[in-house]
Amino acid sequence: MLRDLFVNSCILVTFIFTGSLVLQKRVIEQHRWRNQVLFGLVAGGMGIVLMQFSVRVTATTILDMRHLAVVLAAIFAGPGAAMTTAVVLAIARILLFGGLSPSSELAASTMLLIGLGCVWLTQRSWSSWRKFTIMNVYGLSVVSVTLYLLVRDWAILRRLYVFYWIFGLLMGALTTYLTLYVLRVRALYFQLEEYSTKDFLTGLNNVRKFDEVFNEMMNQAQVREEQLSLLLLDIDHFKQINDTYGHPGGDQVLRDLGHVLARACRSFDVVSRNGGEEFTMLLPDCSHEQACEVAERVRRMVEKHLFRLPAGGTIRISVSIGVATYSETAQTQYEVYQQADDALYSAKRLGRNRVISAQVRSRS
Ligand code: GH3
Ligand code: MG
Ligand code: MG
Repeated sequence: MLRDLFVNSCILVTFIFTGSLVLQKRVIEQHRWRNQVLFGLVAGGMGIVLMQFSVRVTATTILDMRHLAVVLAAIFAGPGAAMTTAVVLAIARILLFGGLSPSSELAASTMLLIGLGCVWLTQRSWSSWRKFTIMNVYGLSVVSVTLYLLVRDWAILRRLYVFYWIFGLLMGALTTYLTLYVLRVRALYFQLEEYSTKDFLTGLNNVRKFDEVFNEMMNQAQVREEQLSLLLLDIDHFKQINDTYGHPGGDQVLRDLGHVLARACRSFDVVSRNGGEEFTMLLPDCSHEQACEVAERVRRMVEKHLFRLPAGGTIRISVSIGVATYSETAQTQYEVYQQADDALYSAKRLGRNRVISAQVRSRS
């Protein structure tokens, strides 16, 4: 019996770690019904594996830790997952483990009862530890009552209960600890991933992500023989804004500009804040002429926009923009960036608040 219960615990630990690896950010953040049902089916599969290593109590009665599959589904993915797991295990108990019999019907009903209890318990606003310990104790209790109804022999039950409860409580605690640990590690991993690619002030891509996306888009443009345009954009006299309205004022302008730029482009264009008051827009499959039109539209939008200040009131700002395009004005990624930068520099020199194209610049 100990051997089988030990195998049960190994299966649970394996499931927790593999489950956490395949768990997507989407699933952690929004326990949508489809995700819950999917997770419940997988947890149900694990429960079936647990049932392969059950302790045979009588000719028709088996005992294992399958209730923990329901608890795990509840912890990882929510009430929908818990109920799906319970239904899968109830059906599997009848179809795969002995067919219809009073014993399997009672065992199936037990699983449904555990599922319903876990659904109710997941809605409580208790601490995770309290919630999952109560789920486990509830599961162990329901199974114990079922066992009594099936066996009704205290000589067998006494020994069984001792092992079952000691093992169940230990496994429940380990399962809860490991699950909460891997969930926390996963959430931190996704948070760090976001911090390393997003600009904290505007929520746009940071320069690291810009480099990555620029590389990808450049490769794509070369393979598909498409154009790729780059807009390099810098706020005019931003230092004065900081000097006049303070850094919080400057920060608010940067945040607002981020929104204006994100609104100005197509869904698959990529806007980044490359540092300070310098932004970029990558426009895939966009000719140089179109890119200059986009840049001019952006320049006018910024010029017209009223930027709100934290202390109240509004100000207007302007931007200078340099435009370069693979493969119309430049042949390499380095050249595209260099040309856009030179064009931006020309825009500054020629009086700011203007768009300069790498093509025009090279002709002058
Ligand atoms: P130009 O028209 O030539 O671009 O002039 P400028 O004043 O915009 O450019 P300059 O490079 O002289 O000044 C940029 C300023 O941007 C200086 C720096 O303090 C400020 N800055 C850089 N990063 C931030 C930030 O995150 N928040 C705020 N508020 N200011 C920043
Ligand atoms: Mg500037
Ligand atoms: Mg600058």
